[in-house]
Formats: sequence, C-alpha cells, structure tokens
Amino acid sequence: MRNELMRLKDAIKKSNNIVFFGGAGVSTESGIPDFRSADGLYNIKYAYPPETILSHSFFMQHTSEFYKFYREKLLHPDARPNKAHLALAELERRGKLKAVVTQNVDGLHFLAGNTNVLELHGSCHRNYCMDCDKSYSLDHIIGSFDVPLCECRGLVKPDVVLFEEALDARIMDRAVQAIRKAEVLIVGGTSLNVYPAAGLVQRYNGDMLVLINKTETTFDKYANIVIRDSIGETLGKAVDTIVP
Ligand code: ZN
Repeated sequence: MRNELMRLKDAIKKSNNIVFFGGAGVSTESGIPDFRSADGLYNIKYAYPPETILSHSFFMQHTSEFYKFYREKLLHPDARPNKAHLALAELERRGKLKAVVTQNVDGLHFLAGNTNVLELHGSCHRNYCMDCDKSYSLDHIIGSFDVPLCECRGLVKPDVVLFEEALDARIMDRAVQAIRKAEVLIVGGTSLNVYPAAGLVQRYNGDMLVLINKTETTFDKYANIVIRDSIGETLGKAVDTIVP
C-alpha cells in the first residue's frame, strides 16, 4: 500500500493533465451517506425503495413524499468538503488537475474551490420552476414547507437527474472528452457498477489509471495503481507533500 501511494505521488508530480472521476464514496467522508446504502430504515419508514422514490414518475405523482425523502436523505446542507475535495482543489490551483467528473449532487467540489466540475447527475444547489423556468437556490427548498412552489405557483424541481431521466448530453460529452484526453485518471469512491461510471472509465486512453476505493472494483485488473483505502486519507497524503 505504501509503495502504491509513492507511485501515486510520483504520477501526480509528473503530470499536468490529471482528471478525477468520483462517486458516492467521496461524499460519505463528509458525512453524506450513499442513499443506496442499506441501513434498513427504508423498509420501516418508506413504503418504496429509494430508486422508486427518486424516479421522475414518482416525483410527478407523489411530489410531497418525494420531497420528504429528498430532504431527509439527499440534502445535507451542513456537510463540508473533506480531505479529498481539498486535495483536488489544490491540484487544480497548481494547474495539474483539468477536471473533476462527479456522480454526486452535493456541490462539495465547487465549495472546495474546484471550478471545472462536471456534475453528471446535476446539483441540489440548482432548482427550477417547471412552468416558468425561474431558478431557485437550495435555501428555497429547505425553507419551504412540503412541496416547494414558484412565485408563479409552478412546481419547483431540483436540477438533479432522477431515475427514468436522461443525463445532460453536454455534460456527459465534456466528461468523455476530459477523460479521453487525460494523462492520469484517478477514480475514487465508486465501485464502478452504476451507470454511466464503467462506460466513462472505458473511454480513458492513457497508461496511468489509478483506482482508490475501500472495496474491490470491476476495473481493478485494468488499473496501474490500486489503493484500497479512504479516498480522503489517500489524496490528502498524496497531495500534501508535493512541492508546488
Ligand atoms: Zn414559475
């Protein structure tokens, strides 16, 4: 493991074209649980599985129940960037990191200071009226009772990609381009089982694929460096000691 960390440091030191691709594991270290994690509470408290509640049709048909789950399970307004977010922001400041591609909707990469963040599944910080398209902040969702409405009385929807909805093709295209052209691709906090993660990693053409995840992933055998550890601890150590 120690040796792998040295190799990661070396890869970061040598490259000015690094791309990071992250999943839910990046945010769990900020105290945001993966909504898929089976804590058993769903069965007791909610009549439907999370994938059903977080679907477009459920949002349209049971908007109040959607928002109850959404506020409780997906919104974590007090969460702060962890060591992984901060290390990636530092790499961007040093001109080494070209893009962050994320499956998370919490906005923590922006909060940490990264500017080129490609949010594949949207962001809970952006919300819009389904009738007049007016934008609303996260505060509007948190501050409103039950179903958030626009001043035009239209329904306000989070700009988050729900199940049954398509990913934003422009964001997806930018993510593919960034990964395709990357010299070093660091993948963290994802088992690469959830669409479109595996397909994106397959677009990488380089020879320095780094996988950092606490458990085995389906891509371990293709990676140049595999580190089975905390993403925050690993990136924190890998970035700190490099002379800018
Ligand atoms: Zn409106």
